[in-house]
Amino acid sequence: MAVSLRQCVACRQKFPKETLIRIVRSLSGETSIDTKQRLPGRGFYSCRNSNCLEKVRKRRILDHVTGKPIPESLYLEMACLLQNSSESYIGFARKSREIIMGITALEKGFDQGKIHLLLMDEDTQKWTRRKMEFWSEKMDIPMIILARQRLESLTGRVGCRTAGITHSGLASSIIDAYAKPPNPKR
Ligand SMILES: [Zn+2]
Repeated sequence: MAVSLRQCVACRQKFPKETLIRIVRSLSGETSIDTKQRLPGRGFYSCRNSNCLEKVRKRRILDHVTGKPIPESLYLEMACLLQNSSESYIGFARKSREIIMGITALEKGFDQGKIHLLLMDEDTQKWTRRKMEFWSEKMDIPMIILARQRLESLTGRVGCRTAGITHSGLASSIIDAYAKPPNPKR
């Protein structure tokens, strides 16, 4: 499946377009956040992780790239979007089939070296947990442990206890989003 990539204005790395925040400058010169990524005009993109959002705001990167001073409110609005970022990355992984679920599928994925991040339900059975921890350690794959309901709602599958992300860029964005608390430091 072809994924269209766009560059983040802060870190300059390329990511799947859908995982980024799109800011659009309309033909009449107004700048706004384009949550559905559909508005006409020139688009600029930023990662949803707090590092990039902070950098965009502090250095007023949008002012530079659009060639126009951007109201502070727009920068604040971008920071608010961060709240849901890890969810949207996992949602995107699901839509683009970059997630595999269940211990059997994971086992196969490990053999093929396809897995970049592990997600596990906090109440998972002991033997499953041991297996996951063993893989995580042996193959040096990071693991995020989530509440059962949260994992089910993120993966969209009731009964999901274990999952793996197979896209390395998405995996690192999810890790970033989880590692950084949503409220900015003061
Ligand atoms: Zn970035």
